Order: sequence, then C-alpha cells, then structure tokens
Amino acid sequence: MPSDTENSLLDYHPQQYGDDPTSIRDTNKYTDEYVRGFVEKWDELIDWDQRMESEGNFFIEELRKRGVRKVLDVATGTGFHSVRLIEAGFEVVSADGSPYMLAKAFENGRRRGHVLRTIQADWRWLNRDVTGRFDAVICLGNSFTHLFSDRDRRKALAEFYSALKHDGVLVIDQRNYDSILDHGFDSKHQYYYCGDQVSARPEHMDEGLARFCYQFPDGSTYHLNMFPLRKQYTIDLMRQVGFQRVDTYGDFQETYHEADPDFFVHVAEKC
Ligand code: SAM
Repeated sequence: MPSDTENSLLDYHPQQYGDDPTSIRDTNKYTDEYVRGFVEKWDELIDWDQRMESEGNFFIEELRKRGVRKVLDVATGTGFHSVRLIEAGFEVVSADGSPYMLAKAFENGRRRGHVLRTIQADWRWLNRDVTGRFDAVICLGNSFTHLFSDRDRRKALAEFYSALKHDGVLVIDQRNYDSILDHGFDSKHQYYYCGDQVSARPEHMDEGLARFCYQFPDGSTYHLNMFPLRKQYTIDLMRQVGFQRVDTYGDFQETYHEADPDFFVHVAEKC
C-alpha cells in the first residue's frame, strides 16, 4: 500500500503548457511533464518484452565488451534498462530527477523480484546526491533531450564524466532530430521505441524545440517539449567535456545513411 506521501506524489493531474505551449523551453519542465496518467499508460502499452526484442543485447554487449560491472542509470524512468541490466548480472544504481518515476521503477523492479537501489538526483547536480564511481553511466530512452540550454547540457555531461571511473564509458541515445529538422518527419520511424499502440509525432519543430504529441488507443493525448539535439552537436559536447572517443551507432548499427535511423546511440569513452 502506498503511504499518504506516495499517494499525493502519485496524484493524477493533467499536463499544463499554458496558452502558448511552444514557448515552454525549460529544463525544469520534465518533473511535471511525466504526469501519472502519461506514465501509467505508457508502461501499460509498451510491452517490455517487445522493447527488449527491438533493442536486442546491444547495450549489454557494449558494456560487457568494456568489462563494465557497476552501472549508474541516470534516466531510470520506469526502470526498463535498470531491470534489464540487473538481470544480465550488472550492479546497478538507478537515479532519476523525478520521484514519481523512481517510485514506478521500484514497483516494476519489485514485481520482477528485484530491489532497485534508487536515488533521486537531477543530472545538473548529480554528484551531490550520488556517491561512488561507476564503470558506466547510461542515459537512455531519448532523455538527454530534456535539457534546454547549452550550459545545462555541459553541466550534466561534466557530472556524468566525474561519476565515472578513469576508464569509464557513457552511453547516451537520442532521436535522429537532424533528419526531422532537415527532411521532415517520416511516419515509418515512429514505432521503434513506443511500439505500434502509441503514435508519436512532432507537432512543432524548430531549431530550439521539438514538441511531440503521443496518442493512445483510448484517444488520450500527452505531449513532451524537448530540445532537438543535432547529432554532431551532441558528439562535440561530449568531446569538449573530456571524452576521448565517441562512437555513434544508427539504430544499433555501425554503418548507416544519416537520414535513415530513428535513433542514434553514442558510446563515449573517457580514455
Ligand atoms: N530511460 C527511461 C526509458 O528509456 O524508458 C526513461 C526515459 S524518459 C523519456 C526521460 C527520463 O529522464 C524521465 O524519467 C525524467 O524524469 C528524466 N529526466 C529528464 N531530465 C532530467 C534531469 N535534468 N535530471 C534527472 N532526470 C531527468
């Protein structure tokens, strides 16, 4: 049974973007974008087995290849990757800035027989709340896109960098925003991450905002305002904060045509 505090934390309330939703370009907005209704519905429809099948063992293999044991999941969300990695034998600490997400992740973990080690931490001040050094930091599910200023992105990356051991690795994924900005949105790309029950499409795109609309089979709709990270910009930032080598995969493949992939995964090594 959730406590009174948990219940008030988990209260249903609508997303609020005001009269001019495209003017909301704020790093702090994420905490109230993931309202309970959105997250519950998302988790209900995105079958974890199906998601597991579409990404295969990509992350597990990348981590094993580098001898990783201790992983810090900085964008735990509802716990998909934390649970996957625990089940693959990694030691995982699960962080997120949203207490509601962490509560949901804990519940999902418990249902599968795991006790997640959760820490509420905003990336910009990560090392204030997370102690210890990790072999890998993962930031997956198009999460880094929630940071709206160059300064916040540099600050978060510097925090990820210092949470890593001297030979650690950072894994960040992102939607292929270059393709949407330069060529428009192609609906064949919409299902990789959300399954075929949820339609995810951009409602507004400019160089400073990707506002996506998520539509569920019962007709309910939710939105996310995100920053459309260009691929080369993300790579340059990682190099600038000190990562020595950055490999970028397109839909988990080493070779790809720039416009084709739905998602990019960056694997950045400290040395
Ligand atoms: N990784 C999960 C997945 O793939 O299902 C969750 C992805 S969800 C799109 C993004 C997550 O990043 C949310 O749980 C949100 O709370 C978290 N997040 C966004 N900005 C953050 C910040 N500045 N600090 C900490 N967590 C943040």
